[in-house]
Amino acid sequence: MKNLLNTPIEYLKGVGPKRAVVLKEGAGIYTYWDLLNYFPFRYIDRSQFHKIGEVNEEIGLVQIKGRLRTFQEIGINRSKRLVASIEDETGQIELVWFKGIKWVKPSLQVGTEYIVFGKASRFGAKYNIAHPELTLLDGKASKIGGFQPVYHSGDKLTGKGLNSKGFEGIIKNLIPQIKGFVHENLPNHILSKFNLISREQAMLLIHQPSNMKEAQSAQLRLKFEELFFLQLLLVKQKQVVRSKSRGHVFEKVGPLFNSLYKEHLPFDLTGAQKKVLKEIRYDLGSGSQMNRLLQGDVGSGKTLVALFSMLIAIDCGFQASLMAPTEILAIQHFETLKEFLQDLPITVALLTGSTKATDRKLIHEQLENGSLHILVGTHALLEDKVKFKNVGLSVIDEQHRFGVAQRARVWKKNKIPPHILVMTATPIPRTLAMTFYGDLDVSVIDEMPPGRKPVSTQHRFDSARNTVFGFIEKEIRKGRQVYIVYPLIEESEKLDYKDLMDGYESIVRRFPQPAYQVSIVHGRMKSADKDHEMSRFVAGETQIMVATTVIEVGVNVPNASIMVVESAEKFGLSQLHQLRGRVGRGAEQSYCILMTSYKLTDDAKKRLETMVRTNDGFEIAEVDLKLRGPGDIMGTQQSGLLDLKIADLARDGQLLKYARDTAFDLISDDPELTKPEHATVRRQLVEMIKERPNWSRIS
Ligand code: ADP
Ligand code: MG
Repeated sequence: MKNLLNTPIEYLKGVGPKRAVVLKEGAGIYTYWDLLNYFPFRYIDRSQFHKIGEVNEEIGLVQIKGRLRTFQEIGINRSKRLVASIEDETGQIELVWFKGIKWVKPSLQVGTEYIVFGKASRFGAKYNIAHPELTLLDGKASKIGGFQPVYHSGDKLTGKGLNSKGFEGIIKNLIPQIKGFVHENLPNHILSKFNLISREQAMLLIHQPSNMKEAQSAQLRLKFEELFFLQLLLVKQKQVVRSKSRGHVFEKVGPLFNSLYKEHLPFDLTGAQKKVLKEIRYDLGSGSQMNRLLQGDVGSGKTLVALFSMLIAIDCGFQASLMAPTEILAIQHFETLKEFLQDLPITVALLTGSTKATDRKLIHEQLENGSLHILVGTHALLEDKVKFKNVGLSVIDEQHRFGVAQRARVWKKNKIPPHILVMTATPIPRTLAMTFYGDLDVSVIDEMPPGRKPVSTQHRFDSARNTVFGFIEKEIRKGRQVYIVYPLIEESEKLDYKDLMDGYESIVRRFPQPAYQVSIVHGRMKSADKDHEMSRFVAGETQIMVATTVIEVGVNVPNASIMVVESAEKFGLSQLHQLRGRVGRGAEQSYCILMTSYKLTDDAKKRLETMVRTNDGFEIAEVDLKLRGPGDIMGTQQSGLLDLKIADLARDGQLLKYARDTAFDLISDDPELTKPEHATVRRQLVEMIKERPNWSRIS
């Protein structure tokens, strides 16, 4: 079927071949439809005028009418600026230009009335507007006014007259032609449930609203549509995976589980741990393969949940594996499990890159004959030589370090794939989890074991270093241990490395042997040396661990009570949170001290302020999402999912939830979308899958 909206963009009035080239290259606009989908990113309301007396920063962009009183150039060289004063009957305000003075100055006429438009900023008790838009009141004033869309542009586009106004112009030529060509793709029952306007109406109003309310109703409709189809795709995938992947059925909780739970566990599980175990038990008994993501803050007790899940598999006659991203972590897991399982008839082994050949051989044998129940290890578990008799559950810890491909290899370890439990201590904001892991089930441990004292977090400037060192000394005297972490950022690796070494030397000078022992771990060391230093600290032989972020993930030294982060402004929020999670693991009050220089960007201030304010990983993740945006948080690998045209995962969380629920309801009501009223939904979905084949297996 021919649709006008498929017409190549050069045929639109006001475009032509030259502009078409920059539209394609600079904005990905090839057709009328693409242009129609080039939405404004904000709107300016120029229908309202403010009195100078009521100007404040909350208004944002202000528009005033006033008479020019004076103007003069002040300052020299780099501080040169043009300052004008404009007044109405309620007061006066300054206008300032730092650039383009020679263009602006000749156009100013004292005593003349202007319309001034721009952002007001406060300086002490006064306001000024920098680089305002100025229009003579009796000149082009009639062209101003109304509610205006603002479009993104770029140098090349602007060079061909396609600044925001230019886009507004060509879209004005397109809008009158679209009637009848924008087809509705949501069924009526959804439109009316959420009070959404039609698709055609939305396309019109998103570009040419007459007020904010109209713009918002267009945005709502288009955001919902975008999120709904994305979620529908994920929900559908989940349904397909479910029905295709048969899973082992572990119906009952057996003697091993009960024995640990009732006789050997020195404490009760938290409510959150119980809730999550229930979710996992349900999955394991369902007959389909489990694909579950377990989120929980550092120290929330995920390992124990993993252990109980493994016991369910073993009780049913299967084996289990637990894979960690580093050798240190694998060893820790191995020891934790051994301790919990010491009175149970269960065999556990550790397999890493440094396992000796003879031990390795034995492990392979025991795995294949089924006498080994739990295998803990690193990537070494993925090697082809590692064959299980029948692995029923594979746990993967700290998912961020494992790629998609590796997860798939775990699957291939059996004819019927094992159930998969992925654990992550990096909380992911709800909206991202719903999108990135939309085809996985997500469990959350949102409660800490009792008796934990929250870590007290403080921000200190470098000038307070002596005080901080004094505090460290006092804690060490009490028998505690301390981490001091330096940044290591690839781009400035040399410099960072020098900082680390300088820091190390000054610490050794301040905390001299033999009274003090200082460990150091960084990326340039051989891994055997790293492990050696690390284990000295773990064993309490050294009191201070100076390190780069290699210690970020998972290390457990309950006696460490202080985490000092040097140049904390260089760390991201989730990194800071991970680092803080290294302390506060014992019964003592712990401290996290964030050291910075005085020079801080606004974002850095926000990060530090957030860390000081809260210990809640999910809250921190939400702030992180707002500061960095989804692409930076999840990495670009899966950025296909982030090509959202209008919805914003950082801001539209509630709408996303509605969209997801609606998608679930629709699929459960009409699994194959065969009902006539869902034909349009189905068509759209098929098209999406065709357009983006990489979506067919997202995680
Ligand atoms: P995570 O892996 O989520 O960071 P862990 O599983 O390592 O957390 O647990 C952290 C510590 O808390 C461990 O020492 C563990 O034994 C302890 N722990 C776990 N669950 C409980 C509980 N319900 N009550 C008391 N302590 C617990
Ligand atoms: Mg852990």
